[in-house]
Amino acid sequence: MSTINECCHGHNTQKIEQTKVHCPVCNTEGISVSKVTVEHLVTDDYLKLVDGEQYKICMNGDCSVVYYNVDNGVRFLKEQVKVPVWFKKDADPKYACYCSEVTEGQVIEAVVKHGAKTVKEINAITGAMKNPNCKENNPLGVCCHKIIQEAIDKGLKME
Ligand SMILES: [Zn+2]
Repeated sequence: MSTINECCHGHNTQKIEQTKVHCPVCNTEGISVSKVTVEHLVTDDYLKLVDGEQYKICMNGDCSVVYYNVDNGVRFLKEQVKVPVWFKKDADPKYACYCSEVTEGQVIEAVVKHGAKTVKEINAITGAMKNPNCKENNPLGVCCHKIIQEAIDKGLKME
């Protein structure tokens, strides 16, 4: 009897942990984001709701949730965030570099029309990463470098 109880208890604990770190709406696993980033990107009307430290971003492109708090369940939807998140469906414009507001389309154009192949060349042509402040401007709070590289890869495939 005690064995069964232990087993069930173990399963329950696991479930609770999962709902805590996964998106409360779509249940996709989120990526940790700094509170600094959330504070900077949530619209002024919702800024007062930014509380607690543990924030995640939902990586599911079809889900309208952007940020959610692991501890208190507060969540911020696409329309409550100042910038379109590039991997969310219908993001417009689709930024590759948030700091200099360079779009994925501009990066692809630099690749296709000007033959740029590296992030360095893209930056020279488009002005991307000129004033890097990714911690505040990029929805993930990480350097835009990786998104630019992904846009280059898309452009190279189009050539
Ligand atoms: Zn979600």
